[in-house]
Amino acid sequence: MDNARFEDQLAAGCRALGVTVAADLGPRLQRLMSELLKWNAKVNLTAITAPEEVLEKHFLDSLAVLPEVTGAATLLDLGAGAGFPGLPLKLALPALGVTLVDTVGKKVAFIKAAAASLGMQGVRGLHARAEGQPETEGIPRAEVLIARAFMDLPDWLALAPAYVEPGGRVVAMLGKAQTDAELAARAAERQLRVVSARAYRLPFSGAERRWRCSPRSRGGACRRARRPVGDSGRCDTAVFLPGNARRCRVTSAARIPPGGEGGASQGPR
Ligand code: SAH
Repeated sequence: MDNARFEDQLAAGCRALGVTVAADLGPRLQRLMSELLKWNAKVNLTAITAPEEVLEKHFLDSLAVLPEVTGAATLLDLGAGAGFPGLPLKLALPALGVTLVDTVGKKVAFIKAAAASLGMQGVRGLHARAEGQPETEGIPRAEVLIARAFMDLPDWLALAPAYVEPGGRVVAMLGKAQTDAELAARAAERQLRVVSARAYRLPFSGAERRWRCSPRSRGGACRRARRPVGDSGRCDTAVFLPGNARRCRVTSAARIPPGGEGGASQGPR
């Protein structure tokens, strides 16, 4: 994939997702991709190695949540793996302070090496296990909590609030589309309220990424499913605030083509 094609695909993908990024993001993402693929040749960080797929399924999928993160001072990415979504978000929002946490040392080593190699300021890779005790775990609270493919929604809403600063918010990148009523019900179980919910498609493949989640008692993290995925191509994201569930207000972005709405069932992607 040459530079021009990368830039074209990035621009087209961001347009399709409705997010705006700075002109210098392309070269920075290309350097991140080089680092990722270089490390991945020696250390197993990701099964996605084709440049087109790295761009869409790691970078663009991470950038899709820019609207939910923009404006925050600090972001905490739990179960960040090789740095997704935290590293692309940091490249798009240079002033954001980002902490990326993972239990696997080699993944954290990659995050630190990539941040150093790209000259990123305000990025911290932390080798830790998040289990709901930020002080004892040495994990700092943040204004925005995020994770991708880490836990299913009920487990995420049980864990994440412990890591949110007062006035902060929890972002859920959902594996499967959920109805407004389902989101509100999951929020109410944890005395949270839904402030926004949005659906989007990955722009090129239309491929839905599925994740299967094991119960928290068995480790909690989701693994990428190896089998081919369905045709809905739909991903959802929702933002939750601590507060009274009865004040719940849900807004949906009109990004779903006709026929793509509804039928939401809970489950990993
Ligand atoms: N967010 C990345 C990686 C998802 S895989 C992406 O979307 O590509 C889930 C990751 O969570 C794995 O890297 C795993 O090592 C990590 N993990 C599992 N349990 C964890 C825990 N309790 N605390 C921190 N990281 C954890």
